[in-house]
Amino acid sequence: MARTLAMFTDTSLCIGCRACQVACKQWNELPSEQPEWTGSYQNHSTFTDKTYRLVRFIEKPQANGELSWLLMSDVCKHCAQAGCLDACPTGAIYRTEHGTVNINQDVCNGCRYCVSSCPFGVVSFNHDTGRANKCTFCNDRIHNGLGPACAKTCPTESIQFGFRDELVTKAGKRVAALKEMGYKQAQLYGADSNGPLGGLNAFFLLLDKPSTYALPEKPLLPQRNVLVDSLLSVGSALLVGVGAVLAFRERGGSTKGGGDA
Ligand code: SF4
Ligand code: SF4
Repeated sequence: MARTLAMFTDTSLCIGCRACQVACKQWNELPSEQPEWTGSYQNHSTFTDKTYRLVRFIEKPQANGELSWLLMSDVCKHCAQAGCLDACPTGAIYRTEHGTVNINQDVCNGCRYCVSSCPFGVVSFNHDTGRANKCTFCNDRIHNGLGPACAKTCPTESIQFGFRDELVTKAGKRVAALKEMGYKQAQLYGADSNGPLGGLNAFFLLLDKPSTYALPEKPLLPQRNVLVDSLLSVGSALLVGVGAVLAFRERGGSTKGGGDA
């Protein structure tokens, strides 16, 4: 496998211009959509089959009663352990030699298992094509040395693309610098290869806890939940069974007692 490529999004540099969102639409030939009122400048509220990159606008109340903005350009995380890939029954979702996760549209049968298996709500179903869609890190561009359109267009370099190991080192230094500047909650999300999902190939520098950005604190593969749920179900079934046997025996005993009287 080639050296893993990744995307590092430093949310502290984002100015909310949404050039990345537009560049993504343009390169991937995604049509415009009916705007959605979300109560902020964010549009849409979630990823859609026509919005693979989404700039989140989060209003955070301050101690003095005023609001401050937290901005984050969100995208498919190209997880090292990808729920979408594991769930796909046709093999349409595959990992490239660069570590990214793609959907082969010709092989997708539209079952939507991947939609419910992504811990981040990234995959969308396209009702026009009957296929699942998501960001590919601009697969055609990165295989021609161009870099994803969003990273190329970002005017503040909030989105950076390159070799994962180099970006992780850079991101660590940026967190340390921000903490020195007083951003006590500055933290990396998804950078640790030993962390949840084996690390994310699109990882983030956040200025607040992940849930503030609508990110799960500890993302899990849905399959892990299935195992726990299955064990709980088996345990519950056993308890019900034991309860039924005890009740039956008790009833049998009291019936016998009644006959003797
Ligand atoms: S973020 Fe979701 S769609 Fe993207 S690779 Fe991970 S599981 Fe798949
Ligand atoms: S292009 Fe860069 S600065 Fe503009 S919204 Fe996207 S990430 Fe933020």
